[in-house]
Amino acid sequence: MKATVFHEHGPPDVLKYEDFPDPEVGSNQILVDVKSVALNHLDLFVRKGIPGLNLEMPHILGSDISGVIKETGRDVTEEFQTGQKVIIDPGRSCGICEYCIRGQESLCADYGIIGEHYRGGYADLISVDTQNVLPIPEHSTLDFNQAAAAPLTFMTAWRMLMPKANVKPGDDVLIIGIGGAVAIAALQIAKLAGARVIVTSSSEEKLEKARDLGADLGINHRTNPEFHKEVWNLTNRRGVDIVVDSVGVATWEKSLRSLTKGGRLVTCGATSGPTVTTNLNLVFWKQLEILGSTMGSRSELRDVLKLVWTGKLKPVVDQVFPLSKAKDAHDLLERGEQFGKLVLNP
Ligand SMILES: [Zn+2]
Repeated sequence: MKATVFHEHGPPDVLKYEDFPDPEVGSNQILVDVKSVALNHLDLFVRKGIPGLNLEMPHILGSDISGVIKETGRDVTEEFQTGQKVIIDPGRSCGICEYCIRGQESLCADYGIIGEHYRGGYADLISVDTQNVLPIPEHSTLDFNQAAAAPLTFMTAWRMLMPKANVKPGDDVLIIGIGGAVAIAALQIAKLAGARVIVTSSSEEKLEKARDLGADLGINHRTNPEFHKEVWNLTNRRGVDIVVDSVGVATWEKSLRSLTKGGRLVTCGATSGPTVTTNLNLVFWKQLEILGSTMGSRSELRDVLKLVWTGKLKPVVDQVFPLSKAKDAHDLLERGEQFGKLVLNP
C-alpha cells in the first residue's frame, strides 16, 4: 500500500509518501480501506516528537479515519460485513483496569490513541480491533470527509461540556479561539444544550463563520486583547458560567477572569504553552472549578455520534488534500488559518 510516513521527528517535510507493507489482519481485527483521514493538532505534536513517546519508526499519523471494510478477521462477528462504511474510534485501552471497568477508558494507564501510540490512517489501509470499528448508519448523509472529521473533536468537546462542565440551558459559555475543530464542536454542542455562546478569534472572518454556526456573540481578541473585560460587558458584569480554553498560557488568566462566581473552566490542551500562573485568591474566593479533560470514553463517543449521524451536530471540513500532500496540510494547520477540519484522501 501507499502511506505517508515519517522516519524521524521534525518539520512538515519529514512526511514522505511511500510504499509501506500492507497491515496484517488479526483474528479479531478488521481491515479498513481508508477513504478519508482528518488532521488534528495531535498530528503536529507527534510529528515533532512528544517527550516520553517512543515510536517504532517509520510512524504513520492519523487518528480520525473513515472508510470501507475490506476484510474481517476469522473471529469477527457477522455484524461487520465487507463493503460496510465505518469510522474508527481512535482510543485503545486495557479493558480490565479500574478506569476501564468504570467506562473511563481515557484515564487508563495503557490508554493509547491510533495515530499517536499506534500507526494510524495516513495510508491506503489500516487494521484495527473490532471494538474500535463503528458502522456509519444507513440514514447518515455525511460523506467520508465529514465522517472522518467527527470522532476525535466531537468526543473531546462532548466530554468537556457535558460530563465535565455540565452545560445547561441558559448558561453563558465562552469559547476561546474559534476556528479549531474542537472549538467548533464545542460551539455546536453548547448551542444544542441551550446555552448562549460567546466566541473569540483574531479573525473577523472566523467570527462571522462562527455566527453562521450559531454563536451569539464574537470578540476579536486581536483588536480587543483584554477580552475578559468585553465578556464582563456582554454579561452585564456577571461573567460566564463556562470557559472552554485549550490555548493555555496566552489566555489562561483572562479566561479565569471571565468566569462568574462558581464558574467552570475546562481545558483539553495548551497550544500556546502549558505552564500558567494562577491567582488562587480568584479561584477560592469566586469558588471556581478548573476541569481537565482528554479525549472521551467509548460511550461518550457513541452518545455524541448519535447527534452527528442525525445532522444535529455538523462536522465542518475546511479543505481536502490528497494523502501525498500531507505536508501542505500540516503547513496550513501550523499557521492556524483553517476554520474546521483539514482532511486527507488516500
Ligand atoms: Zn484500563
